[in-house]
Amino acid sequence: MIDLRSDTVTQPSDMMREAMCCAPVGDDVYGEDPTVNRMQEIAAALLGKTAALYVPSGIMANQLSIRAQTQPGDEVIIESSAHIVLYEHGAAAALAGAQLHGITGDRGILEPEQVEAAIQPKDPYHPRTSLICLENTHNSGGGSIYPLAKIERTRSIAQAHGIAMHLDGARLFNAVVATGIPAAEYARHFDTVSFCLSKGLGAPVGSLIVTNDGPIIEQLRRSRRMYGGGMRQAGILAAAGIYALERNIPRLKEDHDNARRLAELLNKVATVSVDVNHVETNIVIFDVVGSSRSASEIVDALRKHGVLLNAVGKTTFRAVTHLGVDAQEIEQAGQILFQVLS
Ligand SMILES: *Cc1c(COP(=O)(O)O)cnc(C)c1O
Repeated sequence: MIDLRSDTVTQPSDMMREAMCCAPVGDDVYGEDPTVNRMQEIAAALLGKTAALYVPSGIMANQLSIRAQTQPGDEVIIESSAHIVLYEHGAAAALAGAQLHGITGDRGILEPEQVEAAIQPKDPYHPRTSLICLENTHNSGGGSIYPLAKIERTRSIAQAHGIAMHLDGARLFNAVVATGIPAAEYARHFDTVSFCLSKGLGAPVGSLIVTNDGPIIEQLRRSRRMYGGGMRQAGILAAAGIYALERNIPRLKEDHDNARRLAELLNKVATVSVDVNHVETNIVIFDVVGSSRSASEIVDALRKHGVLLNAVGKTTFRAVTHLGVDAQEIEQAGQILFQVLS
């Protein structure tokens, strides 16, 4: 099977497993797991911050960040197809009592002026805008990279209004590798940044939140336990995270090359509509036009021929490249897609 459903399907390599089995561990709720502590230090340094917190999932990382930077009833400005809006079961409302104020961007990217226009006036009638969340790369936007200049302008608007900023950087390192812009250069503009170890970086479990020492990290630590995310000998997992951070970042370029190649192959299929130039990182969004088959029938047909991918709309599909799929398999997938979709 060539599994292009998501970069979450990656398997830990033998060397990563070896690193896990000999990791020194302790009770991380007491702050005594040396491997977790080391991973948090590496992550903070990599993003130019002074503190980091290991959490079980990307959703928990986002939700703790929202919780730590809002009061119940506050508004969070966010792009309307963000992961936090579409795929987190309304957690910002359910757990933090925050109201998401969604505005629609271009492939997930908001103009700073749009953000500014969405900030509520400070008067007795409107909710308080206390947080702006951006997503880089943008998942529903097709792996689009958030331009640094737009982030900088959004940050100065936020600062002028005393509003905090969170980055859902689940795939931040894809943006880093594609642009050559250091992670710290992105992170500088945010109060909290989350990123996933268990996607393209290839670790089995976990995400990190990075921030600076102070009240936010204290609040994040307390809420992590409240949300049930305090783990004990988590160093077994953190060892995989360290391995991923030290070895698996530069190779994301292969995934980007593979995604682009896949888009080129898809572009040769008469029934497929795809914009090759929109493939900036490891996600390919494409449409199958004029087919009598439903999206789920197409997904099933592809599965029978050995390719797994997801439908994300009635005629829209998403393929994600990752370390479990090599260049040769992409050629193979291209042939199968041609066969099944022609
Ligand atoms: C995958 C993802 C997350 C977090 O997902 P988990 O499954 O909870 O790890 C958050 N944001 C974006 C943009 C994602 O793609």
